[in-house]
Amino acid sequence: MATNVGDAPPTDGGPADERALAERAADLRARVARAAERSGRLAEDVLIVAVTKTVAAERVRAAWALGFRVLGENRVQEARAKMEALAALGVRDARWEMIGHVQTNKAAIVAEHFARVQSADSLRLAAALDARAHAVGRVLPVLLEVNIGGEASKSGFAPEEVVGAAAQIVALPNLRAEGLMTVAPPAADPEAVRPAFRRLRALRDALRERYPMAGERDGGWRHLSMGMTDDMEVAIEEGATIVRIGRGLFGARPTLH
Ligand SMILES: *Cc1c(COP(=O)(O)O)cnc(C)c1O
Repeated sequence: MATNVGDAPPTDGGPADERALAERAADLRARVARAAERSGRLAEDVLIVAVTKTVAAERVRAAWALGFRVLGENRVQEARAKMEALAALGVRDARWEMIGHVQTNKAAIVAEHFARVQSADSLRLAAALDARAHAVGRVLPVLLEVNIGGEASKSGFAPEEVVGAAAQIVALPNLRAEGLMTVAPPAADPEAVRPAFRRLRALRDALRERYPMAGERDGGWRHLSMGMTDDMEVAIEEGATIVRIGRGLFGARPTLH
């Protein structure tokens, strides 16, 4: 990673930027494939969600052209603007996932425009999404966000709340609970977060036993969305089926987000 402004790779969407993006994409896919292999799985078993917050639409399109079709955003307004910008650039088959906290007054927009909400972090939000999904005639896939490190600054269900909350969420007819998501506590050494990822997996396994989904061979609750640029390998080794990657694909972000 670049350490000072002089080293910073271009982010202007020009040819050098596109080359750098293609190199990071290849490197990212290789890292994911190796970690998947270490966990006895195939690279295709791990979905890479390209996190496009702060990234200009032209660069998002370049990533899409490299095959990244599932895009993650954490702010509703920014995401909607980008969805329209991408459509204007001719991109019509991108799948957008919400990965950040959603205020209940934005539930209607989210239920209509996102393919999945990874950040269902309260029963109140889940109820609002259920009502809004019903209004637009769809069943909305969600992941329950778990505040695995118990950090005051983060949203999400406390680990000990998840099983009880899941009982209420599976009863909502217009949501489809597909698994769990977490943002691990920051750590200088990714090994330090391995126990948190193990704990999320154990919670998912408990949900599978307790609330098996009708018709699902593995009991359902398939997804574990855990792992970002700095800890994706450990997360995949511990069973992540989804990693959410921003900097590892697009390079460093401006410091605001
Ligand atoms: C920004 C963000 C990411 C991506 O983080 P990187 O470290 O850039 O890979 C993943 N998940 C969430 C919820 C985010 O907000």
